[in-house]
Amino acid sequence: MNDDGQFFYHPLENIEDTDVFYEAVERKHLTKAISPERPYTYWTIEMYDQENGLRGGGGLGVLAADTRRVAEKMGIPFVAVTPFYPSESKQLMKDGMLTDEHVAKDYRKFGFKLVDKIYIKCAGGMTELEVIEKKFKNTRILSITEPNFGELYSDTSGSDHRLYQEVALGFGGYAALKLVGLKPAIIQLNEVATFFAALARLDELASNGMDFYEAVVYTRKHTLYTNHTLVQAAEADFSYEQFERYVFPNLKSLAVKKWLADKFHNGRIRLSSATIEIAELRSGVSKLHARVANYKDVAGERVKFKAITNGIDLDKWVLPEILQFYREKGILDKANFLSENYTEMVQKIEAEEIRDLKSRGRDILNKILADRPDQNGRILKFSETDFIFDFKRRFVDYKRPDLPFRDPLRLRSILEKRGAHYIIAGRIHTGDTNMLAKLNSVLEVIRRDDYLRDHVHYIADYDEKLAYGLSSGSNVAINVPIVGLEACGTSWMKDVANLNLLISTHDGGVADASKDAYFNVSGGDDHEEFNNLLQRMEEAIAVWDNDFDLEYMVKLQLIGFLPVVSGTRMMQDYLDYLFPA
Ligand SMILES: *Cc1c(COP(=O)(O)O)cnc(C)c1O
Repeated sequence: MNDDGQFFYHPLENIEDTDVFYEAVERKHLTKAISPERPYTYWTIEMYDQENGLRGGGGLGVLAADTRRVAEKMGIPFVAVTPFYPSESKQLMKDGMLTDEHVAKDYRKFGFKLVDKIYIKCAGGMTELEVIEKKFKNTRILSITEPNFGELYSDTSGSDHRLYQEVALGFGGYAALKLVGLKPAIIQLNEVATFFAALARLDELASNGMDFYEAVVYTRKHTLYTNHTLVQAAEADFSYEQFERYVFPNLKSLAVKKWLADKFHNGRIRLSSATIEIAELRSGVSKLHARVANYKDVAGERVKFKAITNGIDLDKWVLPEILQFYREKGILDKANFLSENYTEMVQKIEAEEIRDLKSRGRDILNKILADRPDQNGRILKFSETDFIFDFKRRFVDYKRPDLPFRDPLRLRSILEKRGAHYIIAGRIHTGDTNMLAKLNSVLEVIRRDDYLRDHVHYIADYDEKLAYGLSSGSNVAINVPIVGLEACGTSWMKDVANLNLLISTHDGGVADASKDAYFNVSGGDDHEEFNNLLQRMEEAIAVWDNDFDLEYMVKLQLIGFLPVVSGTRMMQDYLDYLFPA
């Protein structure tokens, strides 16, 4: 994105000249700054990449995996550093009850190889970590793991175990990087749980003879903090005593210890306060989010975040037939950059083509649902003409999974007119009793109504496959976060790119485009937004049943959102920010 807020797209003369583009990229950025020995390093506490054995919790992890995939395709030397959790949870519906099962995972089964063992200091002893890696062409996933590492987000934030996991990722990951002979050109911190990676670097520089202030300046200039959270106050903190057990023993430089100790306030520290001080480069994940994220630095000044809206790896999330269609129409090139005249090309899309592509997606959805029963143990199979709404996202309060169920009779009447189905998919964070209660009350509402019972389906254990199946095979996606609380959101990107209609509040990355680009839900409060949502659902049904309206709406969405959703665009934005010309 350039300074006046326009999205960057490479002005391709014709759709085949991406090689010219890459040469330009290399001249401008990469040859000096990034090399195979000095790669772009990306640190993340979660990575959602099931094909490679990694299951994340949500958008943060999806973003991490997509960023690596995009870097791979763009030929960028790139290392993702992330834990390999030896166990993960799986949620199943048994007799109407949601249960968590814990599944052990072996990294060898996913193509990871053991590099060596390293040690970090924890709680008065030494902890042995295995360094493992999986290499691709120009990228790799470098992980640390050990049998008692625990699950992703196990225990509470602020607990000893979380601190241990974060310290192990930072100090252990940094040692792992050295072990495989790499130095980071850039350290990108995907949220503050990865702070210790930058700290490890600062400590290495300061304890190897570099003047402490120079080491701070150097580290700051090469560290990018990517923020996904709205308010600093929401973040858990740690005590000085916890740092004495887990963090300080791993530092060699006295000056760094003192620098870090200064970041405590009344004996407690928030990692964001320290991260802001160690990273001069800071980004937020959508235009709106970068504007509203409320963080202060040590001087009490409001922190500025550069808006770099998330994108997705279109090759991973979009039905191959649809991607091929974009290429044939001259909308996207083979690297998923938009062509300069893409708006003209989008205008040529016809309803028949949309319906045809969506029916392929429907087949994929049916295949994926074949072993994913709903809450009643039924296997769902939909015909081409069935109408499907979906709500697929983590079950958290602000995303309002229960919004359409405020008035079950009205919801019923809308679905009934068209015989429409409503599919809900979303995991509940282990131990989140509040959201479990919410899900159970929604399920109870569904159970009590004989129509909803057959037309509203909850599919447990939401994962990548289900996300892919629903975005390619449903008709309309519903995304109704409370405005201001969604940092970006990526599931709606999968929907828009797969030619679903989007019903959404104007929040997160959706607000990068105008309210006219999709079915906007707005209102002064929950109740008005509920009314508005049901109205939009009726409109969306009508639009799907009319060729002219369908073409019109899909074109609006593509014109508004294609510049936003491409992961290649996101990577280009990061490179422009990190290495200004
Ligand atoms: C895309 C995806 C997410 C992220 O959704 P957001 O809209 O970014 O919250 C979470 N879980 C799965 C399985 C996904 O595929």
